[in-house]
Amino acid sequence: MSEDEVEIPEDHPRYQSLLTRHRIEEGVEKGITSKQGLIAEGRGEAFDYLLGEETTPSADEAERVAAAHLLLADHPVLSVNGNVAALVPGELVELAEVVDADLEVNLFNRTEERLQKIAEHLREHGAEDVKGLKADARIPGLSHERAKVDADGIYDADVVLVPLEDGDRAEALAEMGKTEIVIDLNPLSRSPQTAAVPIIDNIIRAIPNITEHARDLQDEPRAELERIVAEFDAEETLEAAERQIREGVAEREREQERKRES
Ligand code: ATP
Repeated sequence: MSEDEVEIPEDHPRYQSLLTRHRIEEGVEKGITSKQGLIAEGRGEAFDYLLGEETTPSADEAERVAAAHLLLADHPVLSVNGNVAALVPGELVELAEVVDADLEVNLFNRTEERLQKIAEHLREHGAEDVKGLKADARIPGLSHERAKVDADGIYDADVVLVPLEDGDRAEALAEMGKTEIVIDLNPLSRSPQTAAVPIIDNIIRAIPNITEHARDLQDEPRAELERIVAEFDAEETLEAAERQIREGVAEREREQERKRES
């Protein structure tokens, strides 16, 4: 945590959202996050507010399933964009270590300078090998710049974790036959809807929780991991998140009312 971040008092009711915003701001200043990333952050915050700013039981379950997929994979890759790099660089490096995954920088607004800065930022947080700089393969069905990936990275992966991915690329990756794990706070967005495992949670909470599940599950036999994966219902996860958004706000208001009255 940087010195600036300590200035936000931890008991502030909106501590996590202020911290998130601050990290994105810093990301923009450092040239890691794009200006569009600020807009994405705003959208995310709104959904997080509606979800109650906590990991729901169904998101936790999806995070466990994601951990099982990553442990079962032959070649898992964690995709990193400007928001992800600003928000959870160290946490991603840790997850990559636990599940033995590659990290690959993958940008919607791709510039060589930003790619280099993100790779450097990840290295500063302990990453050894960062992919995405060679860009020697293409995802079929996407326009030139957005299709670029590394041949020995995302192109070759069997399981990809794509947090905050845009809908087109999420669809194109799924069409390549990859098992796709998407983290996105909006259950109505196309990316989680095309994912094998949609995680409707803030990436700030989701990544450390996937890592924790991976640590718990790493000594389980393959058959147990396969059972966890097979029992998962993506549709039900999306529906649970939507229910939480629709009903959760009213429920929390009723709760506050009860507290005031007692
Ligand atoms: P699609 O093309 O899939 O409909 P979109 O247009 O909604 O995508 P963007 O505008 O790029 O996509 O928004 C980024 C997405 O990332 C939003 O759905 C937002 O909820 C989500 N998001 C933003 N910040 C976070 C975060 N910290 N954790 C998880 N998801 C986030």
